[in-house]
Amino acid sequence: MRDFSYVRANSLDAARQAAALPGAMLLAGGTTLIDLAKCGVAEPETLVDITHLKGLGRIEVNERGVTIGALARMSHVADHADIKSSFPAISEALWQAASAQIRNMATIGGNLMQRTRCPYFRDPANFPACNKREPGSGCSAIGGVTRGHAVLGISDACIAMYPGDLAVALVAFDAIVHLGERHIPVDDFFLLPGTTPDREHAIEPGEMITAIEIPGSAPARRSTYLKIRDRQSYEFAAASAAVGIEFEPDGRTIRDLRVALGGVATKPWRARAVENALKGKVLEPD
Ligand SMILES: Cc1cc2nc3c(=O)[nH]c(=O)nc-3n(C[C@H](O)[C@H](O)[C@H](O)COP(=O)(O)OP(=O)(O)OC[C@H]3O[C@@H](n4cnc5c(N)ncnc54)[C@H](O)[C@@H]3O)c2cc1C
Ligand code: SF4
Repeated sequence: MRDFSYVRANSLDAARQAAALPGAMLLAGGTTLIDLAKCGVAEPETLVDITHLKGLGRIEVNERGVTIGALARMSHVADHADIKSSFPAISEALWQAASAQIRNMATIGGNLMQRTRCPYFRDPANFPACNKREPGSGCSAIGGVTRGHAVLGISDACIAMYPGDLAVALVAFDAIVHLGERHIPVDDFFLLPGTTPDREHAIEPGEMITAIEIPGSAPARRSTYLKIRDRQSYEFAAASAAVGIEFEPDGRTIRDLRVALGGVATKPWRARAVENALKGKVLEPD
């Protein structure tokens, strides 16, 4: 890991200004950034520590939904009573992500910004070809071992899977990412690889995630997150789904349905075709 300098930001503006400088990166819980620096993927010249910024760890619930500050810890959000009752899939996605130690350190903003676990991406010494790391260098995964890579949203340049759990549930329930004053739907925040897999998020230099807003809805209240993985203790998803459902008053006909998939696509994947095919159908016990 190469040497870097460290700056502790004491205001949002100071953090954004410092982060806009070449070679600067934001540091939140550090659970993924330090890993990436150790393996030579991230080479920050300056780390801008945002963990002391006031007010960004709040979870605010009102009649429209919930707004979660970017510095709220994964474990805090997972265990929040209103999140558990109004957005069970969000709580479950967080509980099933990473380990207890990581959830206690890691933040919601950092979680959204985590990068792919593609083993070729994380091993620059042995696999120099990686379009995500080095645009135009090629892709070591295509033609290599592809277990754990994506099948949806891939391109000729990159087939890396998006690894996170929380964002899958956020996409299902139309969450909005707050980048200070600019707000964008979470589905648009994550970019398909196309010809520019190095650009993963619709975030500009000098911007940072300040909060995530999740609108309340009937499907969000009746939701769950299912995750299949190689081991139960802690592991990324082999496949996962965030599902929320609302019935007509007969209790059997599907009025509204949300389905998003994880572990299979290059970004958190909203399965709108599945939703549209099932809306209005009667759900039978079998
Ligand atoms: C062993 C292990 C297992 C894991 N398993 C899972 C899993 O099963 N499911 C899962 O979802 N995740 C998993 N993770 C990933 C984990 O959830 C992330 O490491 C964590 O959420 C990152 O948050 P952080 O605050 O530590 O981010 P950091 O490491 O501090 O930062 C990560 C990135 O986000 C940027 N950043 C941080 N905050 C902001 C902000 N507010 N605005 C803009 N950019 C920002 C940083 O510059 C950096 O590029 C695992 C991680 C490890 C190490
Ligand atoms: S799949 Fe994407 S991240 Fe992995 S080696 Fe290929 S270009 Fe790099």
